[in-house]
Amino acid sequence: MQFTRLRLNGFKSFVDQTELVIQPGLTGVVGPNGCGKSNLLEALRWVMGETRPSAMRGGGMEDVIFAGASTRPARAHAEVALLIDNSDRVAPAGFNDNDQLEIMRRITRDAGSAYRINGKDVRARDVQMLFADASTGAHSPALVRQGQISELINAKPTSRRRILEEAAGISGLYQRRHEAELKLKGAEQNLTRVDDVIDNLG
Ligand code: ATP
Repeated sequence: MQFTRLRLNGFKSFVDQTELVIQPGLTGVVGPNGCGKSNLLEALRWVMGETRPSAMRGGGMEDVIFAGASTRPARAHAEVALLIDNSDRVAPAGFNDNDQLEIMRRITRDAGSAYRINGKDVRARDVQMLFADASTGAHSPALVRQGQISELINAKPTSRRRILEEAAGISGLYQRRHEAELKLKGAEQNLTRVDDVIDNLG
């Protein structure tokens, strides 16, 4: 699964549509202080389904929308699209007809986020699972932000284990297990209710 392009529109400091070509191999982002390097990495995490505003260095998710500058008014929405080469057909069923996948997330003030895969409306969970199964995602260890290396050196073994699990592509399984456990609990409660009804009838 190769990321090929990142397109931003109204996201943080990227007020005008900006498109970046992502070449195979390791990508480094360099530039002067405050030019938007971290914003780019955050756009990548955000489009992959990041839900914590703190991971976007904001108080609320709407803080990712261009807030205005002396010469430009604030925007009402922000959009990020990530294009992926799907020629190895790793996308989940239903999205696997094309050689290219376009994952899009859009946020509108007071209306929250909406996600699309190849133009089809999907849930946040569908996008998060797609990336988790491909051993990547908003928390992927492949995205290295400033200060992260020293954090890793000082991290507790449990935190390091989480990183290894993400890299191994099994973090999606934890989410599925959690959902299966919730369903099981619901089924057990229904069974208890059925038993009560049977007791009352008897
Ligand atoms: P450094 O090297 O200092 O860490 P950087 O290149 O990583 O900087 P960023 O932190 O990505 O830069 O970008 C910071 C810039 O983005 C600031 O000028 C900030 O005002 C701007 N910015 C952040 N959020 C928004 C927003 N919602 N609307 C407009 N501008 C924003």
